[in-house]
Amino acid sequence: MNPGLLHELTKLLGEDSVLHKLEDLFLYEYDGSVEKGLPDVVVFPTTTEHVSQTVKLAAKYEVPVVGRGAGTGLSGGALARAGGVMLVFSRMNRILEIDSENQRAVVQPGVVNFELTRAAEPHGLYFAPDPSSWKSCTIGGNVAENAGGPHTLAYGVTTNHVTALELVLPDGEIVRVGSKHGDAPGYDLAGLFVGSECTLALVTEITVKLSRQPEAVKTLLVIFDSVDDAAESVVDITARAITPAACEMLDGWTLRTVEDYIHAGFPMDSAAVLLIEVEGLAEAVAAQAAAVNEVCSAHHAREVRLARDNAERELLWKGRKNAFGALGRLAPSNYVLDGVIPRSKLPQTLRRIQKIGTHFGFQIGNIFHAGDGNLHPIILYDPRDTAQFERAMQASAEIIRYCLQVGGALTGEHGVGMEKSELMPLVFSDADFSLMRRVHDAFNPDCLLNPGKIFPLNKGCGEIRVRKPPVEAASRP
Ligand SMILES: Cc1cc2nc3c(=O)[nH]c(=O)nc-3n(C[C@H](O)[C@H](O)[C@H](O)COP(=O)(O)OP(=O)(O)OC[C@H]3O[C@@H](n4cnc5c(N)ncnc54)[C@H](O)[C@@H]3O)c2cc1C
Repeated sequence: MNPGLLHELTKLLGEDSVLHKLEDLFLYEYDGSVEKGLPDVVVFPTTTEHVSQTVKLAAKYEVPVVGRGAGTGLSGGALARAGGVMLVFSRMNRILEIDSENQRAVVQPGVVNFELTRAAEPHGLYFAPDPSSWKSCTIGGNVAENAGGPHTLAYGVTTNHVTALELVLPDGEIVRVGSKHGDAPGYDLAGLFVGSECTLALVTEITVKLSRQPEAVKTLLVIFDSVDDAAESVVDITARAITPAACEMLDGWTLRTVEDYIHAGFPMDSAAVLLIEVEGLAEAVAAQAAAVNEVCSAHHAREVRLARDNAERELLWKGRKNAFGALGRLAPSNYVLDGVIPRSKLPQTLRRIQKIGTHFGFQIGNIFHAGDGNLHPIILYDPRDTAQFERAMQASAEIIRYCLQVGGALTGEHGVGMEKSELMPLVFSDADFSLMRRVHDAFNPDCLLNPGKIFPLNKGCGEIRVRKPPVEAASRP
């Protein structure tokens, strides 16, 4: 760590806002992904001015900078791949305004997603993007990753709910894009920054739309004896122009693991369940629930169970939203994939994933946003076993390749980060990369902000440190 930079950061932020001892830095070496990257110093700004001054200092010493929310990201976005300064936004966590009349909120980036919905609830409002990590992930992280969640099937992902941003550019300049109400004239710059994975700017304030709570909600647990029947039901529900607010699927192995841990009421002997939510005006909701019931019964659903009250509904969602944690109890580590397929390819893709699992020697769990065709196969592995880790990586690449082969996408909501940068050429041509680079370089020409992300290394920011093999990290004393 450069002593001059450390001295100036400590002077700017105070000693209790700067971490530089190795044992402290290790806590920030990882996120929810399988990647690793150690920062040289971690700082906790409390104001936009702090962020701007920190970025200016890093530029002065030619040191990279990366922003971090809660570190729940699943693609290595918040890791300091090339070392440098990590800005953690956990102390910029105030809800600055809830404008209930106009259904807007203004928040600092470190506000936890669920806390915004909790604050909006007394006004009959909520924040629609609800990643399963909503009780820990931050709105700043949601903006950077353009996060989705179970309810984005009906309401769209984060970008559909962000109207304005305050940003700190890599040279420390503070700018505002978008507008609180209505479309900002000119380029849709807020749209450009949402999903840019901290490669264009740091986000210091966010204005979001709040949605009105629906008059009625019905949550259905649909139980199947065959995965194919569950998958076919999803295809058919959407083909009949029924748009549930959420349509999630868990396969049998996964739901048994979840049930063991959460006791959400999932039947242990079923092959798959769908968790379907319909909401809106009471009459429309009753009609939609009946239509869902009809479609699933036609596909041999064993039972369509309607949550009797809010407590049962919350328990079912607890099962869904804690599923990754439940699976995490079975192995030292797990790799949550993120791929998208056309919904109509769901049955064949689930069969293919099982085959890939068998071939590489893994039981692969499936728990995912079925309604949007956004898959999250989970591979359990032991990072101390290098050969097993490599097989897990091969299996995951094979699954993602298959998603692309059937007309899907590289990522649905977790971003590219470090995890998928080398797979980007499967989707983008040199001309595509050149255009993306020009956008990148317009804001981040020296590549000091979050280097080594999104772009493959040979098309990225030149020489940077590559990731350490996981076994090295795992065997550290
Ligand atoms: C159990 C579990 C379930 C999940 N479920 C979902 C899901 O349903 N849907 C979904 O989309 N994702 C999901 N995720 C992934 C993750 O929670 C999201 O990507 C989330 O948006 C990350 O937020 P974070 O605060 O943890 O960000 P971090 O992981 O800290 O960072 C993510 C990215 O945001 C950038 N960043 C953070 N703050 C800022 C800022 N202020 N300015 C600029 N860049 C910033 C980082 O540099 C990084 O590139 C899940 C993760 C877990 C562990």
